[in-house]
Amino acid sequence: MPCTYAEVQIAVHSVGICGSDVHYLTHGAIGDFIVSAPMLLGHESSGTVTKLGEGVMNLKVGKVIIFPVFYTCHSFTINAGY
Ligand SMILES: [Zn+2]
Repeated sequence: MPCTYAEVQIAVHSVGICGSDVHYLTHGAIGDFIVSAPMLLGHESSGTVTKLGEGVMNLKVGKVIIFPVFYTCHSFTINAGY
């Protein structure tokens, strides 16, 4: 399936579990944020770009990137790449 104008398809290599994730798992909260629904852990990811939409100008297919996964599909922004 092709990407839409601003989409990027990524073959995910790995997803990190950080201290925040461990805290949510062991304490059910961090500060005022209390986990109240099922939650997937891991939000620091790496992968290879496999497809680009026509409007994506700052990436190339084959580039290995790191990206945060704080939002659901079709709604996050890639802030860094290597
Ligand atoms: Zn984190």
